[in-house]
Amino acid sequence: MNVQNILLNLEAKHPGEQEYLQAVTEVLESIEGIYNENPQYESAKIIERLVEPDRILTFRVSWVDDRGQVQVNLGHRVQFNNAIGPYKGGLRLHPSVNLSILKFLGFEQTFKNALTTLPMGGAKGGSDFNPKGKSDNEIMRFCQAFMLELWHIIGPNTDVPAGDIGTGGREIGYLYGMYKKLKMENTGILTGKGLNWGGSLVRPEATGFGATYFVNEMLKANNDSFKGKIVTVSGFGNVAWGVALKVTELGGKVVTISGPDGYIYDEKGLDADKIDYLLTLRASNNDIVSPYAEEFPEAKFIANKKPWEVTCDIAMPSAIQNELNDDDAALLLSNDVKYVAEVSNMGCTSEAVEAFHKAQIPFGPGKAVNAGGVGVSGLEMSQNAMKLNWTVEEVDAKLHQMMFSIHEACTKYGTEPDGYVNYVDGANIAGFIKVADAMLDQGII
Ligand code: NDP
Repeated sequence: MNVQNILLNLEAKHPGEQEYLQAVTEVLESIEGIYNENPQYESAKIIERLVEPDRILTFRVSWVDDRGQVQVNLGHRVQFNNAIGPYKGGLRLHPSVNLSILKFLGFEQTFKNALTTLPMGGAKGGSDFNPKGKSDNEIMRFCQAFMLELWHIIGPNTDVPAGDIGTGGREIGYLYGMYKKLKMENTGILTGKGLNWGGSLVRPEATGFGATYFVNEMLKANNDSFKGKIVTVSGFGNVAWGVALKVTELGGKVVTISGPDGYIYDEKGLDADKIDYLLTLRASNNDIVSPYAEEFPEAKFIANKKPWEVTCDIAMPSAIQNELNDDDAALLLSNDVKYVAEVSNMGCTSEAVEAFHKAQIPFGPGKAVNAGGVGVSGLEMSQNAMKLNWTVEEVDAKLHQMMFSIHEACTKYGTEPDGYVNYVDGANIAGFIKVADAMLDQGII
């Protein structure tokens, strides 16, 4: 494989799709060695087939706002690869959504899902619709209009969407309601459902809890633990609150949360009561960052800055892609950060990742660290298929085991001769082998 040639070719075919090209570059660089040692991959043109999605559906979504005005958005579903199971991946509702972002997310999802050990292929979808400031009724009308197109290409054994940025339990409910009406069936077509209509216990917390279990394995591998560690976290969405909850439970101190307009520094650290307060604010659809600083006077709001300037032992970006760049990495390193783990997908730029590797800091990539979310979605699908519910203890134990085996896989394929674990290479190689071998078994399709 000539990585440069493949990338040049992709760039020419998809000019300007920066996030997608960034994600592909990272994987190709990790797997080049193993690919070239296995000529069967080259003769089946595995890479050329794996870097392009199986198909993309783009559609118009027309809906009526509360003032009676017609609004028009674009919707997409990128079905990336189904070599090891039905397409699976979230729906992102955010004004920044475009095909480059959804293709990067679908590509990453393919390897992430392979790492979970469950039979799930990779996909991603979403819309440039902005849920911020919309009423419940507007959200419902948008979700219904979105599903009126999407339902044609999804199904419990074909493609099972889930939540992501801007898509939480409320949106999943409206999407599910419309699918059920159109299809006249109750199947596990979406994950992240409400508990009383097919959802799984622990799914809301799964991404954050799983990420914390993964980091705990990174710590254990260095004879270390969360006890007394200062942890910086960004965002405060579906994922970040689970991180805050579990890190606090394991004895760490989460001192930051953030939004696009700045961050909160709470030297005393979040606790269960503060997390509850934040959740109430979030549920009211209001800004959470500045009211928090008013309610807890020991906390400071630092406008237009990112939490990476705060001295910490562990940094866990949990908001959006490329939220931690090379300047942020330099700041963290100069403040003696000991571990970094992406909870957001591709939360760090390539330059930042390179800086952590160069400094030999254990760095966990999103596709390994945040795989617990889709992992428990997979468990939700199993429970739906069996028409039964597992207890919190059963789901949590399975999530724990999954994160442990993902960490093992990273160590197996990513340990360098000097003992440093390159988790990026480890995750990419382990995920790639599973998907590539399945593609070989299934012929040229
Ligand atoms: P949410 O929409 O629930 O939360 C996103 C959070 O990030 C919000 O607090 C938002 O603040 C904040 N945010 C958005 N943009 C910025 C920015 N530019 N700078 C700082 N903060 C920002 O999304 P999720 O928690 O679901 O997703 C977060 C990340 O985790 C994404 O990368 C997602 O792909 C990834 N992920 C999510 C999974 C899931 O189960 N939901 C599974 C695996 C990965 P505000 O609300 O004020 O805009």
